[in-house]
Amino acid sequence: MKESKRHQNASNQKETSDERNPFIFLGGNLALDLVNTEYIVRGKRADRLLTPVDATQWWEMAQQMYSQTIQHQESRAWSEQQVSALRRLRQMLRDLFETIVVHHQAHENQIEELNSLLRLGSYMLEIGPEGNFSAHYRMRDLQGSEVLFSIAWAAMDLLTKQELGRLHACQNKRCMVLFYDTTKSATRHWCSIACSNRARSLQNYRQTKNAP
Ligand SMILES: [Zn+2]
Repeated sequence: MKESKRHQNASNQKETSDERNPFIFLGGNLALDLVNTEYIVRGKRADRLLTPVDATQWWEMAQQMYSQTIQHQESRAWSEQQVSALRRLRQMLRDLFETIVVHHQAHENQIEELNSLLRLGSYMLEIGPEGNFSAHYRMRDLQGSEVLFSIAWAAMDLLTKQELGRLHACQNKRCMVLFYDTTKSATRHWCSIACSNRARSLQNYRQTKNAP
């Protein structure tokens, strides 16, 4: 009972996908949910980010999901090259996050692309109304890389401000979703209730099968 409640809390975001809404937002971080645009459907790896239309739809939803952390950007048409760049970043992030999940560390060359995106912005010193100083990170001329920049920023936030021990791959062997565990007890094992249920029914099946 307690267990199922925990998973409900952990997964009160978009649970499953369907034809109208092929995207899942279970990662708890924008960079993780870019990675999660590839997932397993009926045993097969499905890629939901193939065309400019896919990218437009995903980014619209991502902005709604992460409205607290990303500044809303004007909707615009994506070019094929921009989709390719987004897919390259996704692959780079998957490699990086999966390495961290397994080894709890990463190599310098795995963060090079993130750094080249973060170079598109810089810290600016500002003076508030009461004369107080503050530092703000401002984007410079992004040349159409606003989305990539926002994702790189989310990845940096995850890597530097969060507990990396809470970054997990779903324990369902037939799932490839990555997520950041925000549960108080830090014991979330599955990306969703669906995966948790699948793991449980498999366990029950094995127990029944092995029963004398
Ligand atoms: Zn899962």
